[in-house]
Amino acid sequence: MNYLGKIRARSAQASSHYASYSSGKSRAPKRVLVTGGAGFLGSHLCETLLAAGHQVICLDNFSTGMRRNIAHLKGVDRFNAVAHDIVQPLDLEVDEIYNLACPASPPHYQADPVHTTKTCVLGSLNLLELAARTGARILQASTSEVYGDPNVHPQVESYWGNVNSFGPRSCYDEGKRCAETLFFDFHNTHGVEIKIIRIFNTYGPRMRPDDGRVVSNFIVQALTGQDITIYGDGSQTRSFCFVDDLIGGMVRMMASPSSLTGPVNLGNPGEFTIRELAEQVIGLTGSRSQIIHRPLPVDDPRQRRPDISLAMQELDWRPKIDLSSGLRQTIDYFDGLLTRPARELEAV
Ligand code: NAD
Ligand code: UDP
Repeated sequence: MNYLGKIRARSAQASSHYASYSSGKSRAPKRVLVTGGAGFLGSHLCETLLAAGHQVICLDNFSTGMRRNIAHLKGVDRFNAVAHDIVQPLDLEVDEIYNLACPASPPHYQADPVHTTKTCVLGSLNLLELAARTGARILQASTSEVYGDPNVHPQVESYWGNVNSFGPRSCYDEGKRCAETLFFDFHNTHGVEIKIIRIFNTYGPRMRPDDGRVVSNFIVQALTGQDITIYGDGSQTRSFCFVDDLIGGMVRMMASPSSLTGPVNLGNPGEFTIRELAEQVIGLTGSRSQIIHRPLPVDDPRQRRPDISLAMQELDWRPKIDLSSGLRQTIDYFDGLLTRPARELEAV
């Protein structure tokens, strides 16, 4: 499907996201800043916002994001891409800010841990200052990692978490926790309208083949006939949400009444062991790859599943796409990507 076809399909989806949650005023086109807009989630969000008629400024330092994720949007006159690192201050006129800028995959956020903390903390500070100056509403893409290796299962928003302050995951976990603190302090002391979502493992088309997270790793390994690398014995669990479901929840949160600050969990409550995920990927791809085991990373959470009662109640949101249909779409994406000539990929 070409971009116009896609935008029409997304338009129907986006209007249903907005219809019951927006007042007449908030449905008017807005200038929306999406930080991390060239990333996996950010590029889908930019598409959905354009389909809803908004002007979108996609800001990214292109560290883990890819120019090809937004290449198809370049011809749209309401879309602008800006290269910028949110660690540096910025000044723009905007009505809404979605802060998604931050590497999300463990190998990527651990590659330069100091910069990850700076992105979470200084980046959030810069964007909150922008929100305070412009009066923009601001949404923070927080994470289930704020619960650490949880002792409460499933995880509810009222749970404070079990986080190591100096392990390899801490730059991300503690950075995101501090960002939540900053959001609430700007809300309480400067009246900034904030929205915090805690995203649980989300997957889908436009993840990088070298992203390093489990879904993309297993699919790429299965499609290329490499061994499938289970870390540890594979009994640890995760709950996997398909990207379209997640973006729907994100825009609903942004359009919700001012009184709803969050944090609100967004994720799919279906819970699977990593071994079950590997078996599903092998089954769906028909791959002959073998499963092998690698050491479990330090501080790897044992179990994770969102309690989404709050999102269901306040946003009338719940995921609709089950793991096998989401995996099929993601497999199709990687299959197409891996068979395209390298030259063609470099060109975008
Ligand atoms: P991603 O790595 O694909 O996207 C992150 C984007 O942010 C990339 O385009 C990257 O280039 C950009 N970026 C990173 N640091 C930046 C900086 N300092 N300045 C400007 N741009 C910067 O990851 P994603 O999965 O799309 O995640 C998007 C957001 O959602 C992240 O904030 C992440 O923490 C959050 N999140 C995602 C998940 C998930 O499962 N996908 C789960 C929890 C939270
Ligand atoms: N994992 C795995 N093999 C891989 C990549 C990840 O077994 O090739 C495991 C990882 O140890 C973790 C789970 O899959 O237990 C989810 O990892 P991911 O990096 O996707 O996300 P996170 O740990 O941040 O939830």
